Amino acid sequence: MMIRPPLRPSLARLLPLRAMGTAATRTVAARQHDLPSAALAFQDPSAFEVKSWGELLRALGVFHLCSIPVLVNNCGKLMSAARTILGTRGFSLLLRPTVYAQFVAGESETEISQSMEKMKLLGLRPMLAVPIEEDLGESTGEKRYDDNMEAMLECVRMSHGNTWSQDPMMQLKMTALLSPDLCVKLTTLIAQQPYDLSMVVRAMDGEPISFPGLDEREVAHFLCGLRRLNKIAEESVNKVRVLVDAEYTYMNPALSLVTMAMMKKFNKDSAWIWNTYQCYLKESRSLLLEALSLSQSEVFCLGVKLVRGAYMDKERKLAEKEGRQDPVHQCWEDTNDSYNSSLDVMLNAISQKPERHRIIVATHNEESVRRAAQRMEELEINKGGGSVCFGQLLGMCDHVSLTLAKEGYAIYKSVPYGSVDDTLPYLVRRAQENRTVLQGIRKERDLLRQEVWRRLRRRHVKYV
Ligand SMILES: Cc1cc2nc3c(=O)[nH]c(=O)nc-3n(C[C@H](O)[C@H](O)[C@H](O)COP(=O)(O)OP(=O)(O)OC[C@H]3O[C@@H](n4cnc5c(N)ncnc54)[C@H](O)[C@@H]3O)c2cc1C
Repeated sequence: MMIRPPLRPSLARLLPLRAMGTAATRTVAARQHDLPSAALAFQDPSAFEVKSWGELLRALGVFHLCSIPVLVNNCGKLMSAARTILGTRGFSLLLRPTVYAQFVAGESETEISQSMEKMKLLGLRPMLAVPIEEDLGESTGEKRYDDNMEAMLECVRMSHGNTWSQDPMMQLKMTALLSPDLCVKLTTLIAQQPYDLSMVVRAMDGEPISFPGLDEREVAHFLCGLRRLNKIAEESVNKVRVLVDAEYTYMNPALSLVTMAMMKKFNKDSAWIWNTYQCYLKESRSLLLEALSLSQSEVFCLGVKLVRGAYMDKERKLAEKEGRQDPVHQCWEDTNDSYNSSLDVMLNAISQKPERHRIIVATHNEESVRRAAQRMEELEINKGGGSVCFGQLLGMCDHVSLTLAKEGYAIYKSVPYGSVDDTLPYLVRRAQENRTVLQGIRKERDLLRQEVWRRLRRRHVKYV
């Protein structure tokens, strides 16, 4: 079977302003009465009761730093300068108790397990993420990709083999296993002549397929990459749901091709392999509709991670440089409409066949979360049924995550782990990619402050 247009190469502050969206802010008050539960107003600082004094103060300090644009915009350079001045050890001593502790679970399995146990007590589920990624021109040798595969197999083992595992998920960056340069070439090729999904599946099974358009060296690397992915999927099926990240439009079609082939092979009875849809892309809705129809014609279960998208600035700059049309929606409001409409598409599909479709509403945006909860209620989708869950990044918007958990929704935290050195480039990218959210972290800060005052007042009353 041929994948048709799908895989072309084009492809409120979380708070009052961005997370809710500028337009949304105006209508929030009017919508309060519509909420599936008043608790999803996310106004209650008691969500932070579970945090220790140290955690409260650390979060306040880190969010304060993250709200200073000059720091966030230059954090890569500032971190390298700090590392040069302080040395690796001094730098690590500075970062470990602060930014690292806020956004990373730890380095050793013991540290990670401690963080995960704590999360489990709060009703949060784990989505571990190995922070490895590459971009064009950074391609490394086969040995490095094999090492990355071992790291991911370790992630699968850790995710399901622990007391804190509960329907675990993990994130997978495909460019850690398959060269970005090859993904770009594949993207161009499949735009002209779509590859057959079954052919990719056969290659994953070890058949020496010769893919048209690729030279001998590229075919050899593609086959190695597919076998690596196959091994990870074989290890994770029936244990851990693997969510493949979306990256840049110049390689996403190749990533989707391989992900769809993995779905065809491994998602026969349930969605173990998921794809990511970036709603800031103008074509995201049509890609999602194509994936839905492919899942029907090829008879596999579809798992969808719905995000707004993290690479807006780079996508825009590249399109401008190449004289192409900007692939990203013109404004946040259009991205928001696209997010809502894709969410509706998936929730409708789930209400019809909950066993064949799954979605993670991966956003820090309160309005999106409320909307999903509202639609779930209207469509009578069971909160605990497993077809719909929510996701946020570790250390961000805990007031949203903890409230959702309290209300009985399935909620995952995306949890990077590794050494300070391994996780820093990832964290710098995350801070920059998510600066719209980070800069809008004001509401979480306000709620944290309210919790600090509540505790101080309580102490004062005790001693008076
Ligand atoms: C669990 C999890 C997994 C993720 N996985 C991925 C992934 O695989 N790939 C990926 O790309 N991202 C991923 N992200 C990041 C995600 O795409 C967003 O960058 C991030 O979550 C911020 O969006 P929001 O909906 O939380 O917040 P909001 O504040 O509501 O939205 C911010 C986002 O809106 C969009 N936006 C902002 N301004 C404009 C504008 N002027 N015009 C058009 N659009 C605009 C951007 O996408 C921006 O990131 C993931 C996030 C989470 C929580």
